[in-house]
Amino acid sequence: MADEIRVIFPNQPGHRATLNTFYRGQVEYLNTAELAEAFSIRYYVNNAVQKQVLHFREGEVKVTAFSSFVIIDDKSYQLPAPSYFDGRDFYLPARSFFRILGSTVLKGATFDESRRAFIGPRSLLGYNIHRASVEEKRNGTLIRVRTSQIFDAANIVRYITDNGWLVVQIPAGKVDTLELARSTMGGLIRNAWGRQLDNSAELRFKLNEKVPLPEVFQVDNGRELHIALRNPVRKKGNRTEEMRKLWYLNTIVIDAGHGGKDAGTTGRGGLQEKTVCLDVALRLGKLLKRRTKMKVVYTRDEDVFVPLFQRTKIANEAGGKLFISIHVNGVKNRGARGFETWLLAPANTPEAIEIAQRENSVIALEESNHRYREFTDETLILSTMAQSVWMKESETLAAQVQQELAARLDSPNRGVKQADFYVLIGATMPNVLVEIGFLSNRIEEKKLGQSEYRQRISEGIYNAILKFKKQQEQAMASNQ
Ligand SMILES: [Zn+2]
Repeated sequence: MADEIRVIFPNQPGHRATLNTFYRGQVEYLNTAELAEAFSIRYYVNNAVQKQVLHFREGEVKVTAFSSFVIIDDKSYQLPAPSYFDGRDFYLPARSFFRILGSTVLKGATFDESRRAFIGPRSLLGYNIHRASVEEKRNGTLIRVRTSQIFDAANIVRYITDNGWLVVQIPAGKVDTLELARSTMGGLIRNAWGRQLDNSAELRFKLNEKVPLPEVFQVDNGRELHIALRNPVRKKGNRTEEMRKLWYLNTIVIDAGHGGKDAGTTGRGGLQEKTVCLDVALRLGKLLKRRTKMKVVYTRDEDVFVPLFQRTKIANEAGGKLFISIHVNGVKNRGARGFETWLLAPANTPEAIEIAQRENSVIALEESNHRYREFTDETLILSTMAQSVWMKESETLAAQVQQELAARLDSPNRGVKQADFYVLIGATMPNVLVEIGFLSNRIEEKKLGQSEYRQRISEGIYNAILKFKKQQEQAMASNQ
C-alpha cells in the first residue's frame, strides 16, 4: 500500500515537498533519499556495506540496511522496526524517524498526524549566523559574517591556535555550517568553517599568516559581524624601508575643508569656512610647489563640494605621504580663539565629541548617504589601525604645526587634540587636521579675512612640513 506525506517548511511557505511512503504491515516507511532531497542535504551510499550517510547541517545520520538502529553523531537510536533496503534506496519507519530527527538534527520538527505532514523545524531556518565574505583592506582583511541577530560582542571569545586557526566563539550563535563552509575567502584567510557547540557557535578561519588577535564587532543592527584582522606587524627593517619610501616619494595631500554647498561654519560678518580653507590650502600648495620638489595634490582646488570619502580616496590614490586637512572652528562661545591641530583617535572628551560631530555633520549634506554606511565601527577601527601605524608621525607633525603657527600668529595656541573625524578616515599616511582659528570670534574672523594673515598661516604649516620632513630623514639616516 502506497501513500504520501507532505513536508512543510514553516518559514518558507513557498517551499514544499512530498515523500512517497509505503506500508509494511502496520508501519509506514519513507525513502531517506527523498527526505534528503526535501531538506536539500547531501547523502552518500556505500553499497558494499549497505550503509547510507545523510549529511544534515547539524550532524550525520547513518542508516544501515535491515538494522533497527540509526546512528546520529555516534549515538544509536532505536526504531520500532528495521530499515529496508531495495538495493538502491533505504527506507525507514517514518513516524519514529521523524521523532528522532526532531530531537537531533532537525530540532523542533514534528509530524502532524491530522495533516499527514512533517513540519520542518523553525530552527532549520533559525540560523543566526550565515555566510562570510572577506574584504581586503590596505591594512588588513575584514571578515564580514552575515548574521540575523544582535550578539553581545563583549562575550565573543576569540583566539588563534598554534597551527594558525582563528577561532571565534559566539554565545547564542546558531551557525549554518554548510553556508559558512561555502563562503569564499581571501586576503589573510584561506578558508572558513563552523560547528555548532551546545550554547554557542564556533567559527574557524584558517590564516595565511600570523596576525595579531582581531577585533570583533557587530554592525548594521545585527545584520553583520565584523572581524577585523590587521596585517602582520612589520619588522623593524621593513619599517625603515617604509619610512624611506615615504620620504623619497614626496607627495603632500592638502585638503581644504568643506566646499560648494557645504560652507562649513560662517562668521557673523559672513565669512565662510570653505573660502578661508581653500585660500590657505592653495597658498600652502603654492609654497610647497615653488620652494620644494614635493608633489602637491589637492582634494579640491576650487569651490566645489567633495564628499568626505572622496577626499581620502584622492589622497590614497595619489600615493599621498602626508595628509593635511585645513578647517576653521566655529563654536557657540564667541570668546573662544586660537588654533589647534587634531589627530584621529577615539573621541574621549566632550569637546572632542562635539567637534567631531560638527565636522562630521557634513555627511548629512551629501547627496547619497550610502557611502557612509561604510563608516561603521569597522571602518573606524580599521582606519584607526591604519592611523596608529602613523600615529607617532602624525603627533610629531601636529606638534610641529602648532609650534610654527604659534611663532607667527598672535592667537592662543590650543595645542594638539584628538577626535575621530571622518575626513581623516582611510588616509593611510600621517595626517592631521588643522583648525586655524575661530570664525565665531569677531577678532579672528576679521583676521582670517585678511590675505596677509592667511599667508602667515600657510607659511607656518609649510615650515612645519619642512621641519617634520627633515626630522624624519634624520631619524632614518641614524637608523642605518
Ligand atoms: Zn570644518
